[in-house]
Formats: sequence, C-alpha cells, structure tokens
Amino acid sequence: MKKCPVCGELNGDNVSKCFSCFFDFTKDSQIIEQIGKENLATIFDKNDRYVYDAVSLSASKNGAIDTNELVKTLNNKAAEGWRLVSSFGNEADYSPASTTSSNQKVLIFEKCVYRYKR
Ligand SMILES: [Zn+2]
Repeated sequence: MKKCPVCGELNGDNVSKCFSCFFDFTKDSQIIEQIGKENLATIFDKNDRYVYDAVSLSASKNGAIDTNELVKTLNNKAAEGWRLVSSFGNEADYSPASTTSSNQKVLIFEKCVYRYKR
C-alpha cells in the first residue's frame, strides 16, 4: 500500500492515481516536490489544493492552430482531471514577411487535488 501525499488515503501499490483525489503518483509527485512538502502541509488542512500544468501547441507558418490537435489535447487533459483555466499566444517572432515562425499557443491547466471539507 502507498499513502497519497495529498489526501492521505491508502492506495494499492500498482495504481498510478489516487482513487480518492486522483492525485497522479508519477507526474504530480514532481509538482509536490517543487512546492515542498512543508509548504504543502501548512496549507493542506484548510484550503483546496490545486496543481497546474502547461502545454504548448505550435502554430503553422500562417499562425493557425490545428483544431483537431487542440481538441485532442483538451480532451486528453480533461480525462486526467485537468481543467483549462487560461491560454495565451506567443507571437514573439511573428512577422508577415517571415518564412518561419515560432508561434505558439500555451494552454494552462488546473487540477484540484484536495478539496477542503467545509
Ligand atoms: Zn489522494
């Protein structure tokens, strides 16, 4: 058995996600590592807990985004419990005369990994 670092539930050794809060033992552990366990502990009891992830999509030369790829990305993230909260375009290198472009759309996702019971 392994204990979920976020909600404290005991899970089977082979599961990749907590059955209670859907904490992802592989990916979310890295995020918790960045926050620091101490910081997590002090706010854990009285606050909802969110983690964030970012995905960037490259645009074609004319600046267009592949809609199919966009929808696929959104639904793949949604299936893992992520919710889109923000997106922005990075048009740093874009100019009409340019033959290359590093246009990107950046999608910011949020997942609640702990819900404080009020
Ligand atoms: Zn959990």
